[in-house]
Amino acid sequence: MTYKMTDEYRKVLTEMIGECSHEKDGLGMPCAILISSDRFGGHYRINEYRCKKCDKNFTLKDNHSFTTDADMMKVFRWLVDNGKWNKFKYCCVVNKAHLDDDSDTAKIIENDTWLHYNSERFNVLAAMAKMEGVI
Ligand SMILES: [Zn+2]
Repeated sequence: MTYKMTDEYRKVLTEMIGECSHEKDGLGMPCAILISSDRFGGHYRINEYRCKKCDKNFTLKDNHSFTTDADMMKVFRWLVDNGKWNKFKYCCVVNKAHLDDDSDTAKIIENDTWLHYNSERFNVLAAMAKMEGVI
């Protein structure tokens, strides 16, 4: 099994860690934000969108990819801070639907560094666990 991050997983994880999963407002067109003006005219930030959920401006880079080590650490800390870390690890071990085969399960039992070794895989497993109501 491959562990591929999807938009659905990204949305689940973003909301799980308490952040807004920004969505484009209206026609989804970028707006130009005036940041300053001088005698030559206005200076704008471009490629920003208005979020229809939180009403803030955002760029596409503001949404987490959940494929980076930094995003994995955000999810890991959320799991620890909310008392879900052991449930998550247990879920990964017992729910073989999440895992390739017994060798993956053995990898977790032997050494849970396997979970941390691949940030995208870690976050996909966390999103699956959240969607199943385990964490
Ligand atoms: Zn938003």
